[in-house]
Amino acid sequence: MGKPTGFKEFERETAPYRDAMDRQLDFKEIYTDHRVEHLTTQGARCMDCGVPFCQSGDGCPVYNLIPEWNDLVYNNRWKEALDRLHKTNNFPEFTGRVCPAPCEGACVLGIHEPPVTIKNIECAIADKGFEEGWVKASPPSSRSGKTVAVVGSGPAGLAAAAQLNQAGHEVTVYERDDRIGGLLMYGIPNMKLEKSVVDRRVDLLREEGIHFVVNADVGGSSDNGVSLEQLLDDNDALLLATGATTPRDLQIDNREGDGVHFAMEFLLQNTKSLLDSELQDEKYISAKDKNVIVIGGGDTGTDCIGTSLRHGCASLVNFEIMPRPPEDRSDTNPWPTWPLVFRVDYGHEEAAAKYGSDPRVYSVSGKAFVRDENGKLLGINTVEVDQNFQEVPDTEKFWPADLVLLSMGFLGPEPYISDALGLELDPRSNYKTESGEFQTTHPKVFAAGDCRRGQSLVVRAIDEGRKVAQQIDGFLNA
Ligand SMILES: Cc1cc2nc3c(=O)[nH]c(=O)nc-3n(C[C@H](O)[C@H](O)[C@H](O)COP(=O)(O)OP(=O)(O)OC[C@H]3O[C@@H](n4cnc5c(N)ncnc54)[C@H](O)[C@@H]3O)c2cc1C
Ligand code: SF4
Repeated sequence: MGKPTGFKEFERETAPYRDAMDRQLDFKEIYTDHRVEHLTTQGARCMDCGVPFCQSGDGCPVYNLIPEWNDLVYNNRWKEALDRLHKTNNFPEFTGRVCPAPCEGACVLGIHEPPVTIKNIECAIADKGFEEGWVKASPPSSRSGKTVAVVGSGPAGLAAAAQLNQAGHEVTVYERDDRIGGLLMYGIPNMKLEKSVVDRRVDLLREEGIHFVVNADVGGSSDNGVSLEQLLDDNDALLLATGATTPRDLQIDNREGDGVHFAMEFLLQNTKSLLDSELQDEKYISAKDKNVIVIGGGDTGTDCIGTSLRHGCASLVNFEIMPRPPEDRSDTNPWPTWPLVFRVDYGHEEAAAKYGSDPRVYSVSGKAFVRDENGKLLGINTVEVDQNFQEVPDTEKFWPADLVLLSMGFLGPEPYISDALGLELDPRSNYKTESGEFQTTHPKVFAAGDCRRGQSLVVRAIDEGRKVAQQIDGFLNA
């Protein structure tokens, strides 16, 4: 245990982000540099609980050995902390940046005091590991002679590939985009996860022996199509880690036409243009000087807000159909479950800094888009809704908008692979597997990540990747 009285002596202090106005001027990461003294002090707050809820059940999905590395950081034993971190998490530099940290929601200290700053500590350990050159490629010492094709290069596909490669199997990852990383690359924007951080890890995986093929649309009918049958014939197992890429639409009047886009069109094009040309090629949907409305919250909605602000939008509103969450946990949301409370994420903070108030409007639902006689988007008509999503009479309102971004969640994987292979889907249109299992209804085909469990988190995708790798390894060795 770090300092037995640490939790009594020190207040929780999270590492600050860069200034909310300054950081809107670029797409660089929002974080400030790690300060060792800050982190050792925060590590000292850990109580080394007999039952560390942070690392189990409602806490960390990959069961990170949190109390152990809190203690090691407190004692300035960073390399050992890194070794502990890598035992359970292939990519702590990703989760340290983007995870909402369910571990902190479950931290025992959180019952009476603000929880330990676990996420900051995780990120600092991972970053120090790279700075010091401690994170190195470690290829397997022998090969099994078995081959696995992984379809999709998000965190689930990458974690599975890493684990299967370590077990000696020959792994090839197929990605239909032009860069590796899935939503780590083309969903989560650069200011939250710098793309060099993703590339750095992919380079290590490549050095360890994993093969990557980009612009490879497995089962697709385009020029980039890769034959599913061929992959099945050529490999001993096939893993689908294709993500939940079907967006939920808002089917209201005047939906078709310019100015209304899915969040992922907006975010993907922006990051691609940023990486290809620093946005000079103009191959992206620009929010510059536009009145922007983002429909839907969550990480995706926040990322649309942050990206629109960086383009220089004229105004910004964010609709949430749900009511405003409470400031504190409600009776039905006790510790250690994830606290469903009001939060201010980076995009909300930036919008408030620029326009003077939080951009979110709650309990509101879109009724119809409004267009002029040429089809140009003018705005959207809305109505307020109650807790049961029933319309409240006489609350119709018109909101002017030149750009509306739909961030209303995802409805499972696209159907062309499951159609071609005759795979069964579950009631939420994800690839069906038995509970706790990863084998689909095709014996040689496995599934993991958002395509199996539905839209979720990076850390859950890593967890799924690790677990499916274990099952595929068992299948190959049976
Ligand atoms: C905008 C946005 C922001 C988010 N922010 C956060 C966050 O801050 N923190 C967090 O924890 N989670 C966040 N999430 C959720 C998180 O990114 C996902 O849960 C996670 O990436 C899922 O990983 P995955 O590997 O299952 O799938 P994905 O990351 O979706 O990767 C799937 C990959 O498969 C590829 N693919 C699909 N079909 C084919 C095919 N036929 N052939 C070849 N390749 C194919 C896709 O191109 C994609 O690259 C966010 C999600 C979005 C959309
Ligand atoms: S629950 Fe909180 S205080 Fe207890 S071991 Fe985990 S991080 Fe430390």
